[in-house]
Amino acid sequence: MPDARMIPSLADSEMAAAALARARVLYTDVDGTLLGRGACLLADGEGAPNLDAANAIAALNGAGLPVVIVSGRNARQLREMTRLLGWPDFIAELGCVRSYDRGARVVYDTGDWPEGSLLPDETPYEAIERVGAVEMLQERFPGLIEYHDPWHVDRDVTHILRGNVPIAEAQAALDALPLPVTIVDNGIVHPLHHTLVGVTEVHAIHLVPRGTSKQHAVSADLRARGLGAADAMAIGDSAADVSMAEMVGLVTVVSNGLRDPKLLECAAGFDNVVATNASHGSGWAELASAWLAARRG
Ligand SMILES: [Mg+2]
Repeated sequence: MPDARMIPSLADSEMAAAALARARVLYTDVDGTLLGRGACLLADGEGAPNLDAANAIAALNGAGLPVVIVSGRNARQLREMTRLLGWPDFIAELGCVRSYDRGARVVYDTGDWPEGSLLPDETPYEAIERVGAVEMLQERFPGLIEYHDPWHVDRDVTHILRGNVPIAEAQAALDALPLPVTIVDNGIVHPLHHTLVGVTEVHAIHLVPRGTSKQHAVSADLRARGLGAADAMAIGDSAADVSMAEMVGLVTVVSNGLRDPKLLECAAGFDNVVATNASHGSGWAELASAWLAARRG
């Protein structure tokens, strides 16, 4: 099993120092990364009051350093959240929805789906529903997967579920459907309520059009900004976040993410991933302050 100690610390890495000095945009995950327990910006990972993330956001905004959320959350949620934080752009639904200039321009990505995959007036979300992807998984893995209520509504492209299923086996089952749909493990969550049976470690699980991903969206976003990979960095707490390492100069993992074996497995394939000492928003603040220091030279 991969070991968390394989990932160098942000503070000790020369590679990270060089990447920080060059970075002109930060892509950030939200849940488990920027936010503390209960998805609270003003709490740490245990739920205790903590202002680290809020102060770091104000400092980056003050320095004019742009931050773009890349999250599994839907556009409606991120529109409000980015308004509160003072950020004009975001990437929602695991890369499938890109929103610019406070929603003035919105771009959808359905990846590898061939032309004509959608029925008239059908959203990609409705198409995944039509081919029966969720029912199929629930029949195959009874009690182990369900909708991530109440976050599963108001979505345009992807379905968000929770539970714990063997991802490769679930993917093989999805491959029999008439539309190419990929299952993505988006890391550990702590739902207040669920009706799963015998699941001790609950993961957020997304169904997305094949060929879409956070890293694909980041790549498209960088092109739109006229920036290259080395001009960008990302921060997160899941394997899906670490996958952005392919498209940016540096990925930082907040320390709580190191508990996820899927993240460690993914990180083993990259040499531009580092970890913070602190968890959740305090880890995020650690990266923000290192970025500000590096930009000051
Ligand atoms: Mg996360």
